[in-house]
Amino acid sequence: MKFVLNDILKGKNKIALGGHIRPDGDCVGSCMGLYLYLKEQYPSVSVDVYLEEIPEAYRMISGTENIKSQASPDEIYDLFICLDCGDAERLGFSRPLFENAKETLCIDHHISNDAFADSNYIVPEASSTAEIVFTLVDAEKIDKKAAEALYMGIAHDTGVFQYSCTSPETMEIAAALMRKGIDSSAIIDRTYYEKTYIQNQILGRALLESMLIMDKKCIVSVIRRKSMDFFHASPADLEGIVSQLRQTAGVEVAIFLHELAPQKFKVSLRSKKEVDVSEIAKYYGGGGHVRAAGVTMEGSSHDVINNITARIAQQLRHEEEQDAES
Ligand code: AMP
Ligand code: MN
Ligand code: MN
Repeated sequence: MKFVLNDILKGKNKIALGGHIRPDGDCVGSCMGLYLYLKEQYPSVSVDVYLEEIPEAYRMISGTENIKSQASPDEIYDLFICLDCGDAERLGFSRPLFENAKETLCIDHHISNDAFADSNYIVPEASSTAEIVFTLVDAEKIDKKAAEALYMGIAHDTGVFQYSCTSPETMEIAAALMRKGIDSSAIIDRTYYEKTYIQNQILGRALLESMLIMDKKCIVSVIRRKSMDFFHASPADLEGIVSQLRQTAGVEVAIFLHELAPQKFKVSLRSKKEVDVSEIAKYYGGGGHVRAAGVTMEGSSHDVINNITARIAQQLRHEEEQDAES
C-alpha cells in the first residue's frame, strides 16, 4: 500500500513534529523541511516543532526561531509526527506529547526502528529522513526555505554525499532542491564544515589521544567530562569527531566514547565496509544504521571498549570464515 501523507493529514487541525535527542543535521533538516512545507501548504492547520537545543549554525534555517524546547504535557495534538527517531525513548522531552496525541506517525530511515507509532513510514535504504520527506510531499510545491532545510538534512547524513547511503536518487533529490535557488555551498560550509574554536580544540584532543587497536582495524578515543569542562565544550561540540576518526587509513571501525556521567558513556560507532555497527549498538540497547550507530553504555571506559570490540571481532571472524568457505 502506498503511503500518502495527504490521507494522514486529513481532518487534523493541530499537529506536532518532533525529532530525536541531541538533534543532528538530518533531524533538524527533516523536521524544519516538513514544518515549513506544512505551514505553507496547509495554512489553516496549526503546526508546532519540538526539538532540544540545536547547534547555533543550524539557525540559518528559516523557522528555527519557532522551535519549542519545552513541552506542556496537557497539550493534546491530533497528530504527532516523529522524524529521524528510531525509538520512542529517543524523543526525549517531547515523548509525553507523542504518548498523548490522538494519532502518531513515524517517518524514519533507521534500520533499528521497530515501528513504534500508529503509522510508520520507515525506509532504511534512504540516505536521510530529509530525503524521505521530499518523496512524501509535492516536490513542485517545496519552496526555497523548505528546500534549504531538506538539503541540510541530506548533506549531513550523507557526509556531504560521500557515504555509501548516497544513492542516485539522493543526488536527484539534491539536484531538485538546488533548483529551488538555495545557496547549497553556504549550507554545507556553515552547518557542516565550519567549526568553532572550542570544537576544533576538543577534536584535536580526541585525535591526539586516539589509539589504534585490534591489529589497527579499529580506532578508539574517549573524551571525559573533565576535558569537556576544561575546553568549555558541550555535547553538541563533539559532533563530527567520530567521522574524523573514521577517516584514518586502514581502519574499519571508529569508536568514540564521551562520558555522560561517572561510569556512563555515549558511544558513537562508524564503519567503512565490513562491520554492521547497528547490530552492535542494538545488542547493547542502542541503534542506528549499518555504517553509523550509537548507544549509551555503563561501566568503565575499558569495559565499554572491551564489550564493543568483542562484537566487532565476532563479526570480522564470521566474515573471514565465509571468505574461506567461498
Ligand atoms: P551518533 O553516533 O549519535 O551520531 O549516532 C549515529 C546514528 O545512530 C544516528 O543515526 C543516530 O540517530 C543513531 N543512534 C545514536 N544513538 C542511538 C540510540 N541510543 N538508539 C538508537 N539510535 C541511535
Ligand atoms: Mn539523526
Ligand atoms: Mn538521519
